[in-house]
Amino acid sequence: PRIFALASSEFSTVAEPSWKHGTSLRIPNLIGGSFVDSQSSESIDVINPATQEVVSQVPLTTDKEFKSAVSAAKEAFPYWRGTPITTRQRIMFKLQDLIRKNMDKLAMNITTEQGKTLKDAQGDVFRGLEVVEHACGMATLQMGEYVSNVSNGIDTYSIREPLGVCAGICPFNFPAMIPLWMFPVAVTCGNTFVLKPSEKDPGASMILAELAMEAGLPSGVLNIVHGTNDTVNAICDDEDIRAVSFVGSNTAGMHIYARASAKGKRVQSNMGAKNHGIVLPDANPDATLNALVAAGFGAAGQRCMALSTVVFVGDSKSWEEKLVERAKSLKVNVGTDPDADLGPVISKQAKERVYRLVQSGVESGAKLVLDGRNIVVPGYEQGNFIGPTILSDVTPDMECYKEEIFGPVLICMQADSLDEAINIVNRNKYGNGAAIFTTSGAAARKFQTEIEAGQVGINVPIPVPLPFFSFTGSKASFAGDLNFYGKAGVQFYTQIKTVTQQWKDPPIGAGLSLAMPTSQ
Ligand code: NAD
Repeated sequence: PRIFALASSEFSTVAEPSWKHGTSLRIPNLIGGSFVDSQSSESIDVINPATQEVVSQVPLTTDKEFKSAVSAAKEAFPYWRGTPITTRQRIMFKLQDLIRKNMDKLAMNITTEQGKTLKDAQGDVFRGLEVVEHACGMATLQMGEYVSNVSNGIDTYSIREPLGVCAGICPFNFPAMIPLWMFPVAVTCGNTFVLKPSEKDPGASMILAELAMEAGLPSGVLNIVHGTNDTVNAICDDEDIRAVSFVGSNTAGMHIYARASAKGKRVQSNMGAKNHGIVLPDANPDATLNALVAAGFGAAGQRCMALSTVVFVGDSKSWEEKLVERAKSLKVNVGTDPDADLGPVISKQAKERVYRLVQSGVESGAKLVLDGRNIVVPGYEQGNFIGPTILSDVTPDMECYKEEIFGPVLICMQADSLDEAINIVNRNKYGNGAAIFTTSGAAARKFQTEIEAGQVGINVPIPVPLPFFSFTGSKASFAGDLNFYGKAGVQFYTQIKTVTQQWKDPPIGAGLSLAMPTSQ
C-alpha cells in the first residue's frame, strides 16, 4: 500500500532529494512523491540569460515516465479527496509559511534561470504566494448551496467535488507565480496534479514542489514532468486527466485548447497580449510617466500584462520626450545587481525576434526615438540584454504593433480623442488588459464601459487582480469559460453535483403517477 506522508496530524518533512547532492545537472521528474531521474536520452539546457552558462538540464520525459506520473496522481486521488478539507487547507497554510521563508532562494533561482531582477523575482513569488494564502480559505470558497423545501418535504443542495487528475502547463516568464496560480487551488479542492514547468526555467517549480511536500502534501498529489511539445500533447490526450490549465503563447494555447477539449477535458488557456495605456492630457504627468516606464520596461517587457503600447490623446503627445528621458535613465544589468532596473530577455532567439520587430517598425515608418539595441553590459557581454527602446508614430497596420513583442519596447501611438483611442484598443485582437491615465471621472467611466479588455486599470498600469478576484483576460488573450484563481478558479477545478432529497413519511393513499414530477 502507498505510504502517505500525512499519516498523522503532524506535518512530515521530506529528506533532501538525492539529485541535489549529485554532480548531474539534469533535474528529475517528481513522480509519486519521489524525485526520479528520467531515462530519456534527450535533454534541453537551461541557460542563464545574463551569462549563457548552463544552469541545469531538463529531460524530455519518456512516455512511460509520463504515464507513471499520471498513474501516481490517479492512485493518490481517492485518499486525497477523502482527506478533510481542513487538513488540505492546513497544508496550504504551512506552504505559505515555507514560501516566505524560502523567498530569497526562490528569487535567486528565478533570477539565475529567467534573468529578471531579484526584486522583481520576489514579486513573482509574492503574487503566487497570495494565491496560496487564498487557498487557505478553501472550505468557504468550495461551499455549496442549499434550498430547503423546494417541494413538499424535498430539499435541494449542491456540492462542489474535485475532478480527479488535473494538469498545468507553464510559460517561462513567471516561474513561481504561474505554477502557484494552478496547483495550490487544484489540490486544495481535492484534485491531484501533474505540472509541466517551462523547459526554460523549471527550477522554481522544483523548489515549490519540495516545499509543498515538506508542508505535508502526500505523495502523488503533486507530480512534475518535464519536456516540451510531446509531453504537452501527452497531457492533452491522456484519458485520466480531466482538466488542463495553460498559460503561454497563442500558438501553443490554441493548439492545447483544441486538442484537450476534443478529448472532453476542461481547459483554461491564458495567452498573449498587447496592453494599451491611454493617456489623456488632464492626467498627472509625473505619475503617468513613471507608470508607463515601469509597466513598459519592468521585467524587460516580458510580462503578459506589460503595458507595451501607449496611446497619447491630443496634447499629451508632447510628453513623449520626457518619457524617453525617463526610460533612458533605467539601468540595464544582470538581475543580481541591486541597482538593475531590468535584466536580459530569456534567450538569444527572443532577442533576435525583438530586434527584428523593432527593425520592421522602422522600415514601415515608425520613428525610433530610443534605441536600446546593441547595448553591452560590462562583465556580461554574452547576455541577452536589450535596453529600453521606444518606437513612436506607430500605426495599427505595422507588424511591430500587431505582434506581441515581449521585450523592453514601448510603442507610441496617437489619437485626437478618447473615442479614437478606445477604437484603436478595441480593434486589437487581444484583450488582456488596458489602462487609462486621467483625472476625469467621466472619461474613466466611459473608458471602463466601452473598453474591450478583461482587466482594466484606471491610473493603475498593471491591473492584475488579487486572488479573491480572478485573472480575467478576454478576446484572444483567453480561451475557456472559467478563469484562473478566485471563485472561477475553484469552479474550474470542481464539478458541481446537485442533490435532491426527500425524507418524509409517505402520504396515506398516495398513488402512482407517471407524469413529470412538479413542485407540490
Ligand atoms: P510558450 O507558449 O512558448 O510556452 C508555454 C508552454 O507551452 C511551455 O511549457 C512550452 O513547453 C509549451 N509549448 C510551447 N509551444 C508548444 C507547442 N507548439 N505545442 C505544445 N506545447 C508547446 O510561451 P512562453 O514563451 O513560455 O511564454 C510567453 C507567452 O506567455 C507570452 O505570449 C505571454 O503573453 C504569455 N503569458 C500569458 C499570461 C496570461 O495570463 N495571459 C501570463 C504569462 C505569460
